[in-house]
Amino acid sequence: MVDAKAWKEISAELQPQNVTLVAVSKTKPASDIQELYDLGQRDFGENYVQELVDKQPLFPADTRWHYIGHLQSNKVKYIASFVHLIHAVDSFKLLQEINKQATKNDRTIDVLLQLHIADEETKFGLDEKEVIELLEYYSAQEAQLQNVRICGLMGMATNTDNEQQIRSEFQRLQAVFKNLQQSQFLFKPYFNTCSMGMSGDYQIAVEEGSNMVRIGSLLFGARQYNT
Ligand SMILES: *Cc1c(COP(=O)(O)O)cnc(C)c1O
Repeated sequence: MVDAKAWKEISAELQPQNVTLVAVSKTKPASDIQELYDLGQRDFGENYVQELVDKQPLFPADTRWHYIGHLQSNKVKYIASFVHLIHAVDSFKLLQEINKQATKNDRTIDVLLQLHIADEETKFGLDEKEVIELLEYYSAQEAQLQNVRICGLMGMATNTDNEQQIRSEFQRLQAVFKNLQQSQFLFKPYFNTCSMGMSGDYQIAVEEGSNMVRIGSLLFGARQYNT
């Protein structure tokens, strides 16, 4: 069940702060996405390639599809013709494959690098040193990577009730983001997106400088997985 009231409130809260709301519609039916689309929502986030490929053709071309999950290199080709932003790039190999598939589709694909900030083993992502290494490779091979643009960072905080811990994880992501924005090898006007914050912690994330939040359950209700 879509919560139209929550969508209106959250949108009204984020808009004046220039924070982009990505409505995370994974596992939710197209009819739910349509309801939010009709209210004016355009950015939607998915984490399963097949599900995204099935949903994308059902919506107008001005819908912006964000791929927010862990992406395997061999699946990039299925979403390369339309994806708006890939949030969770965590290897140079994946970056090269995105470039290759973007080139085939005669377009440029925007991506974020995932920084691991949580105190949990299971979450994907790079540590700070790996982010810098990847950016150095990217800078060195920029001429061959013209069809992919690194537009910022993404991260997920630990799933905990400890607000101070969540806040300090977001502060760390924001600090790395700001540092990179200023670093000489990456002085790019389009390196401007810091994607952090979900249903449970988006307000903390925005206080700590997020300019893109990914919200699912507050808008669409709890998810049910049938495995
Ligand atoms: C599912 C998911 C979200 C949204 O989670 P909610 O808690 O439902 O808001 C955000 N980001 C990523 C990467 C996700 O996988």
